[in-house]
Amino acid sequence: MNKEFNKMFDVETIRSDFPILNQEINGSPLIYFDNAASTQKPKSVITSISNYYKKDHSNVHRGVHSLSVRATEAYEESRRSIAQFINAAHDYEIILTKGSTESINLVANSITPQINKEDEILITTMEHHSNIVPWQELCIRTGAKLKVIPINTNGEIDLNALSQLINKRTRFVSLVHVSNTLGTINPVKAVIEMAKSVNAYTLIDGAQAVAHMDIDVQSLDCDFYVFSGHKLYGPTGIGVLYGKEECLQSLTPYQYGGEMILKVTFEETTYNELPHKFEAGTPNMAGAVGLRSAIDYLGSIDLDMARNHEMALHDYALNQLLLIPNIEIIGTANNKSAIISFIIKKLHPHDIGTILNQKAVAVRTGHHCTMPLMDHYKISGTIRASFSFYNTKDEVDVMIEALDMAINMLS
Ligand code: PLP
Repeated sequence: MNKEFNKMFDVETIRSDFPILNQEINGSPLIYFDNAASTQKPKSVITSISNYYKKDHSNVHRGVHSLSVRATEAYEESRRSIAQFINAAHDYEIILTKGSTESINLVANSITPQINKEDEILITTMEHHSNIVPWQELCIRTGAKLKVIPINTNGEIDLNALSQLINKRTRFVSLVHVSNTLGTINPVKAVIEMAKSVNAYTLIDGAQAVAHMDIDVQSLDCDFYVFSGHKLYGPTGIGVLYGKEECLQSLTPYQYGGEMILKVTFEETTYNELPHKFEAGTPNMAGAVGLRSAIDYLGSIDLDMARNHEMALHDYALNQLLLIPNIEIIGTANNKSAIISFIIKKLHPHDIGTILNQKAVAVRTGHHCTMPLMDHYKISGTIRASFSFYNTKDEVDVMIEALDMAINMLS
């Protein structure tokens, strides 16, 4: 059933929190439908980063002076807030990284000694390159085999095929929670249960999920969960690797140097405790502060209404798009997030995206870092509109008008 717009949700108030939205592009008000690539930042996030540098900045950990103590407290407070946000059992299960990509690389690298040539790694057809290439490289290093869980024409994982693929050689199952290209919300809990039945590790790529649904890593019971701050209304250059304590303990360090050690002699080094074992070098304190502020911001709005609004935009836009001749929607799963990918037959996505930009409509065009998925659909790319709670129904109308114009110009 289509979601309806809730009159109680005051999108104008929300929009006033996001200064970047208040600008014109090519003489028209900006319409930002590229939220799956990166979300915009509320004033509170921008201010928190600026205040950190104005008042609290120094290097973290081990400092005895006040600024270092304050910077350390701010950094560790962010970790606590992230742990609460995804309901991790312990703060030290949160490793701060550059983003989802680095988090996946960390796990795929650090698990190397546990993988051998008899082993199999499972991913799905709809993975982002960030959740393909690190596993390919692991397979090259170890001789393990990379196997791909197929999807059906709607863009949903084929659970029957998965049950045929998964076996006692499966050592790792790594899959996306919400597809950045199709918008499919995967049944990750069911997949995690299947993986556990053969004692395989699980990693969930939550890059597109955290901003749009509640995440409870204990209830999911995944071994690892990753996401990026910049897709959660926070800054770039900060992201999260959640790992169950025993899983993180079983990994070798990813990078070596300061912060990740307890004792160093020229003969040998003892590694630090979690989480510091995986945070070599000076971390991104300002990024952590900004990410905490983004989480606080989300806590300050009615997230149920916000998410309902996003899905109402999705449903409205989808119904309007379906009226356009020669359109094909790529990704029609039953359980979807507020992302719509489409193509217009015989027209190139980039050409359409360029004309939409003339009308100040920002959409993403191309393969969305999912080239194997494009191969699966036998297309080179799509046009992708991805919605946030700060978008409006009027903006969707402008996109549809601009799209009509683009199609007329290009046909
Ligand atoms: N995984 C998914 C599903 C994504 O959508 C993205 C980014 O688009 C990534 C991973 C990589 O995120 P980042 O570039 O922030 O590391």
